[in-house]
Amino acid sequence: MGLYAGELLGLALPQSDKRLYTIVETDGCAADGIAVATNCWVGRRTLRIEDYGKVAATFVDTHTGQALRLVPRPDVRGRARDYAPQAPSKWEAQLIGYQLMPAAELFDVREVVLRTPVERLISRPGRKAICAACGEEIMNEREVTRDGLLLCRACAGESYYDELFSDSCMLSFQAAVSS
Ligand SMILES: [Zn+2]
Repeated sequence: MGLYAGELLGLALPQSDKRLYTIVETDGCAADGIAVATNCWVGRRTLRIEDYGKVAATFVDTHTGQALRLVPRPDVRGRARDYAPQAPSKWEAQLIGYQLMPAAELFDVREVVLRTPVERLISRPGRKAICAACGEEIMNEREVTRDGLLLCRACAGESYYDELFSDSCMLSFQAAVSS
């Protein structure tokens, strides 16, 4: 999927720079495969996971803004058998079939527009801010502004966790608002 996206976008992959930005729709093994094929990595801030539980990904050429979303066609599992009729199992039919099938037969490709521009997803690396409520450091422009206060997403109410024994974040937020 990654290599085909590179072919369609005219980019040599795996890339040696950060031109390709990939948004992968699963946190499963497909994410690692795409990372290896494209050389886009979470740690390099060229790979982002939007976990929809799908083997699908959007590949963005950050120079042109062109974005292609690729997803395996719904009938690929069955069609793999046509390419590997001797395979002793379904699994092996897929293993062999996917290698023989032309990429255009494997994937549906759609041109898409990102709802959040890629510049904002990438943001300004290296930028740092301090949350007015919890005092923790926020990197890469992920701070948000609420009531004129610069906050981390957690203190702004977007937290994915609750603290077990303390509501200090909420308390310090209230203190910061009232001061
Ligand atoms: Zn905070």
